[in-house]
Amino acid sequence: MKKIIRYLGLLTSLCLLVMVLSSCGSKKASDQSVLSRAKQTNTIVWGVKADTKLFGLMDVKDSQIKGFDVDMAKALTKQILGPTGKASFIQVSSQTRIPLLKNGNIDAVIATMTITPDRQKVVDFSNHYFNAGQSLLVKKGSPIKSVKDLNKSGTQVLAVTGANSVANFQKVAPKAKVLELQDYAQALQALKSGQGKALTTDNGILLGMAVENPGYKVVGGAFTKEPYGIAVNKGQKTFVKKINQALKQLRANGEYDKIVKKWFGNISGFDYKEAEK
Ligand code: GLU
Repeated sequence: MKKIIRYLGLLTSLCLLVMVLSSCGSKKASDQSVLSRAKQTNTIVWGVKADTKLFGLMDVKDSQIKGFDVDMAKALTKQILGPTGKASFIQVSSQTRIPLLKNGNIDAVIATMTITPDRQKVVDFSNHYFNAGQSLLVKKGSPIKSVKDLNKSGTQVLAVTGANSVANFQKVAPKAKVLELQDYAQALQALKSGQGKALTTDNGILLGMAVENPGYKVVGGAFTKEPYGIAVNKGQKTFVKKINQALKQLRANGEYDKIVKKWFGNISGFDYKEAEK
């Protein structure tokens, strides 16, 4: 009897050991080496915006997402994987970009995403690749000239869920109310239908809207600094290193400057030299 009990005990310990070892081996999708998988498949899967003119916007004519972030992703892919490397794109919003990355649906996020200490707790960022700043979009003829004019109770301002613009704005205009919309297309629609006195987010995004909607203008200058970074999952040090190297190469070979000028060179009221720093 004693022998049997000892035998069963040994068997249980063995089972436990096997379970521990096998659970160590089966990593979550987001923990596996993104770079080795990208090399194997010759593809990097990027999360990009599809509602944000100038950065990532779906062109209904050919169903392609186009913009600065998309061109950057394509150029970075070629630097990292070589000339035959493929960039594939998945649509993200300000709200879905971190969950989609954490779930392993995308390898990296390049989507007007500011590097912030809060976000750095859950994802890693590349070096910054663009400098934006938060501003305001208002209807032409509006008496609103700056954030100060909005800091009144009863004043409603529009922003997008998942954007740090909500908290940034509440800090400088605590008396105003912020109505959060799901994406930038809906936020612009809400501004047009008079649901808010202004729409607040980064200057580049707002200028993209103003270009398309001449009845609206960007006011108040930039009241925050928004350095954009490429987000990847934690534990992907070699991938981040490769992205940073690629960014450096694109700056050195002039391609970065070409992409910035393509999208922002003709946008009046935008200092693209500042954005490039
Ligand atoms: N750059 C800001 C952010 O990361 C606003 C733009 C956006 O919604 O992506 O939240």
